[in-house]
Amino acid sequence: MSQEQDFSEGDLRNTGMSLKHDREWDYELDRIVEAVEERDATKVGLQFPEGLKRRGPKVADDIRELVPDDVTVMLSGQPCYGACDLDTFLMKRTDVFVHFGHSPMKNTDKVIYVPLFSNVDVFPIMEESLEELPNPEDAATGDADETDERPSVGLVTTAQHMNRFEEMKAWLDERGFDVKTRKGDDRLTHEGQVLGCNYASADIDADHVLYVGGGKFHPLGLAMEHPDKKVVIADPVNNVVTVADTEKFLKQRYASVHKAMDAEKWGVIFCTKIGQGRWEQAQEILDDNDDAYLITMDEVTPDRLRNFDMDAFVNTGCPRITTDDGPQFHKPMLTPGEYEIAVGNKPLDELSFDTFHGTW
Ligand code: SF4
Repeated sequence: MSQEQDFSEGDLRNTGMSLKHDREWDYELDRIVEAVEERDATKVGLQFPEGLKRRGPKVADDIRELVPDDVTVMLSGQPCYGACDLDTFLMKRTDVFVHFGHSPMKNTDKVIYVPLFSNVDVFPIMEESLEELPNPEDAATGDADETDERPSVGLVTTAQHMNRFEEMKAWLDERGFDVKTRKGDDRLTHEGQVLGCNYASADIDADHVLYVGGGKFHPLGLAMEHPDKKVVIADPVNNVVTVADTEKFLKQRYASVHKAMDAEKWGVIFCTKIGQGRWEQAQEILDDNDDAYLITMDEVTPDRLRNFDMDAFVNTGCPRITTDDGPQFHKPMLTPGEYEIAVGNKPLDELSFDTFHGTW
């Protein structure tokens, strides 16, 4: 099954129906109110990711009802796409700062992280995904209880479904799989968790990896990072099982690299968001290239770069901006690894996904 095939029955992609899943979030108001009381707080900052911003005013109302009248509740209006993206301006100016929707990239007393787990049932779509995984009955040659006779499968998911991770593992185990999981590196909070920029939790000894979660960009990055593995996507939000197919994505990246090969003037973007800064990487490029100019910015958008007279850009910030939004920029936008290829420091076949490690 590839992402390019016609949609199958029950597939909710492009129908709008996927948005109708009933989502009830636990905003953990008790924990927030407790922190307000403990710190005798007068200013509370709330930061929501883009998809949940519309819930902000209602949550602010609920908090205002529970705290003393002199407490001011502020909503961050800054864009937010990940745990790397804390509103540090608001954080410094509030006694209690709450970041909703992501798990901590780095634990700190300054931030209350409220993860907001999805309540979508993942098991019906996992059942369907079994068709794309090795059949444990075929693999069993002796005693089925012997772990080494079970087909190995890696299991990963996003922070949104992390609350069901142990159940998912047990579910696969009961069906005869040797389930391989690991925590990854410092940038990841949980065992089995992946980010759009980090797939270290899939560095496991298994030819198949089951990704349970919505969207195709995480598993695409995963498949790019682990080209030797079959990445099966069980998407409970759109009710569809697919296999990550990197071909189209690779073509897009090769095209950008080719376009940038004649570039003379380079804009090197250093992102000032707290968890997206890769100063050394940006500095290395500058040290090596007299025609490279360092551009610092928080939000990296086509509009903000349009007035820079560059032939190409290299983005040391969030890799997803480069790969997902790349075609929208007026000049080629490359990852640091792609830049090395475009300027001839590395061969084209070394093109790989840009992953991000460490925190801040
Ligand atoms: S750098 Fe990008 S992909 Fe990584 S956590 Fe931040 S927003 Fe997500």
